[in-house]
Amino acid sequence: MNNELSIYVHIPFCKSKCYYCDFCSSDREDEETISNYIEALIKEILNNAEILSEYKIKTIYFGGGTPSYIEPKYIEKILSVIKLFTSDVIEEITIELNPADCTYERLMQYVKMGINRYSLGMQSANNDILKIIGRRHSKEDVVTAYNNMMKANISNISTDVITGLANDTLDSFKETLNFIIKLGDGIKHISTYSLEVHEDTKLATLIDANFVNLPTEDEEREMNSMTTSILAKNGYNMYEISNYSKEGYESKHNLNYWNQGYYLGFGVSAASYINGKRYSNICNIKEYINKINNFEDVVKETEELDKLDTLREYIILKLRLIKGIDIKEFKSKFKIDIFDMFKTEIDELLNKKLLEFKEDRLYLTTYGRDVANIVWEKFI
Ligand code: SF4
Repeated sequence: MNNELSIYVHIPFCKSKCYYCDFCSSDREDEETISNYIEALIKEILNNAEILSEYKIKTIYFGGGTPSYIEPKYIEKILSVIKLFTSDVIEEITIELNPADCTYERLMQYVKMGINRYSLGMQSANNDILKIIGRRHSKEDVVTAYNNMMKANISNISTDVITGLANDTLDSFKETLNFIIKLGDGIKHISTYSLEVHEDTKLATLIDANFVNLPTEDEEREMNSMTTSILAKNGYNMYEISNYSKEGYESKHNLNYWNQGYYLGFGVSAASYINGKRYSNICNIKEYINKINNFEDVVKETEELDKLDTLREYIILKLRLIKGIDIKEFKSKFKIDIFDMFKTEIDELLNKKLLEFKEDRLYLTTYGRDVANIVWEKFI
């Protein structure tokens, strides 16, 4: 196992709650709670001093919630504490941004503190759809944010879009993709996520009341294939099942997850994986602050992965990547041949054309990517 480490920092605050949101985030906290949370999070980082000193910190990711909603001074404080544990340059530091927060002044503060990758939560370029899903920004805000980023010399920008959004159509989705491409050369990375409708969200209520329509599964599949072809024509290559980038701009942080590297997560709901152990924190903000201040554990769930769990997880994570599994690497890592271990499963998936095997690599076909859950089930 190499000695590199990624760090995830969860900022669970938002200005308002999107109608589809099921993340660990709150739009009801005052400045005092935000400040207390950041202090608690810093204590959690310091409580992990021993592990942090043992590893080389390769990437940091500020996610949420909406990290750009809180004052940049908090992000700077967290960063300066993490940097105490390394004398090396941290290769990639990403922050998630709401386009409506991206003033030139705020962006310049991030640039000065060394953040070098910016993830713009766009979701759609259709203002009607953005309203229906309760996003607080507009298409025009995205243009302003992008222009401010150019002015701040920011050139490593990622953007998120959601497929299968309420009232989205193939045409409006195509407009979203073309809008992103036309924004400019600063957009180096695009992530696409499929909408998940969770119980007890406003969106679920709107759907139940027939107030909005979701695209069918076939339409969503078509959106996915349109995404791959439009983005490929414009130099964005699919490197993971839902991620595209210009060459050399793949997310190092997420690649570490998919390559089963180690990571530590700080803050509510943050997940960690280190030394064969996976665990995640509680989600309640006030409880988190109290527990940290009382020297209590904030971990909610822990799972020890044995060799078989690790191997199965490795297969699923690697198959998410377009390169798939290098079978020689698999053998050297687990001291077993993947074909000996999963002969029946792999033969079936190859016959059904969900997997392909070429040049010592086993990977998902285009059809396999569409029905990836069927493949995962074979290895769980
Ligand atoms: S910005 Fe993200 S975390 Fe915040 S409410 Fe919207 S979806 Fe949830």
